[in-house]
Amino acid sequence: MRTLRSNTRLARLIWLLVAGVFAADLLLPPQFDIVFAYLLAHFLAIFFREKSDVLLLAVVTTTLTIVATVLKPHEVPLEQMFLERLPPILSFWAAAFFVMRFIALREVEEQQEGRFAALFQYATFGILLTSRQGRIIMANPAVESLFGYKNGEMLDQPIETLIPRRFTKKHEENRQHFHQNPRPRSMGIGLDLYGLRKDGMEFPVEVSLSPFKSAEGEFVVAFVVDNTHRKNYEKSIIQQKQELSSLSEALRVLNESLESKVAARTTELEHAKNDLSAALDKERELGELKSRFVSMASHEFRTPLTSVLSSAGLISQYAERQDYTNVKKHAERIKNAVNSLNTILTEFLSLGRLEEGHIQPKPEAIELPACVDNVHQELKSLFKNGQTFQYDHNGQTAVRLDGGLLKNILINLVSNAIKYSPENTCITVTSRADDKTVRISVRDEGIGIPPADQKHLFDRFFRATNATNVQGTGLGLYIVQRYAEMMNGKVGFQSEVEKGSEFWAEFQV
Ligand code: ADP
Repeated sequence: MRTLRSNTRLARLIWLLVAGVFAADLLLPPQFDIVFAYLLAHFLAIFFREKSDVLLLAVVTTTLTIVATVLKPHEVPLEQMFLERLPPILSFWAAAFFVMRFIALREVEEQQEGRFAALFQYATFGILLTSRQGRIIMANPAVESLFGYKNGEMLDQPIETLIPRRFTKKHEENRQHFHQNPRPRSMGIGLDLYGLRKDGMEFPVEVSLSPFKSAEGEFVVAFVVDNTHRKNYEKSIIQQKQELSSLSEALRVLNESLESKVAARTTELEHAKNDLSAALDKERELGELKSRFVSMASHEFRTPLTSVLSSAGLISQYAERQDYTNVKKHAERIKNAVNSLNTILTEFLSLGRLEEGHIQPKPEAIELPACVDNVHQELKSLFKNGQTFQYDHNGQTAVRLDGGLLKNILINLVSNAIKYSPENTCITVTSRADDKTVRISVRDEGIGIPPADQKHLFDRFFRATNATNVQGTGLGLYIVQRYAEMMNGKVGFQSEVEKGSEFWAEFQV
């Protein structure tokens, strides 16, 4: 096609032919009609590049035919001459039309060829055309530079030249297999493919294959892409992924340690908070105890001391008057006041020993009825007018308990029953014992305990609202409860105001 474009010599020949035919037409006698020879020029016009040249040829040959018709000496009228020459003129135009059509089709084909050539030439990926035998028939510049070959150096080389030697045999087998079942596909799916450069260096490639058949035989087009960047990119992504996962692992560990530190710190804070609130409770309790103690002490000490003071004054007056009956009476009062001060001090002493942990129970074999009787004898002087004492026992008499502590408990409960009951009432003590349990209860018919006060009854220094006229420290029941706990026991009560109370202590032996 390139030769045709530059062939101006042929164009000149055509125009020469046209000129020759015109001259011959003019010179030859009318019986020799030569105008159809122009058709030869029209056929040769297929070698023109431009359709306009073909059109020009048609116009020129038509004009020359008409001119020659006019100029030629003729025997028949001119109209007839024109009529005779009309068919050749029409045939020029028909030929011109077909030749122009041919040139248009050729242009389209040339364009397509040009595009394909540009695609092949300027593609940035490698294109190889190989024969069925695996010989390279075409190679574009991209594939040549990819494999480090000079222009045209690859042609007629076996395709295996471009593959590392260790894969050559396998590739030949694969190629045979591909030709048995040819279809477009990617090469080496799931495998890492490598190309071999002319200088012996290997590099990763990606290849896709397309078979095609033509009259010249079977061929395969291979598109080859350099995968080095992609592989490097993949490697760096994998590396980044690994770094990321080790970083996230480190973060997780850090997070866990932070969480455990926070948990430990929270627990510490919780403990500190609990300690602080316990300390505050203790502080508050101490404050309350202090104020209760002050109010109790100021009352309980002042009353007997005032009584001692006034009786002492009266005694000296009665002694002057030698009124010994009254002296005796006030001496008795002083004795009672000192006794009650002594009781108070004894209770304080017990409390002090208790709080300091000096009291340790020492279980021993004791006779329960004898212990109760002993207490009764000791407290006989406290009984009010008409107050009676009754005692019932059930079960075994011998029990294993700390005799001293048990006696203290009974003294407290019985003396309370005496204190908080009016004259002419009965105080009933009941005891029951078996292998496992010892239970003692003290019942009276006294003032009882108001329901609102009952829940505080075992608190230190607590005194019920209906007991303020009776002397007491509010320590007895607290000490009773602590002694019972030391002996693996517990205490309880039930009471009704103005009807009486029943206190009990129960021990597991
Ligand atoms: P105290 O008798 O020295 O006041 P206690 O600790 O022995 O102290 O008793 C606490 C309070 O329980 C008493 O102040 C009283 O109000 C009430 N109480 C105890 N025993 C009886 C009882 N048998 N009858 C009515 N009230 C009682």
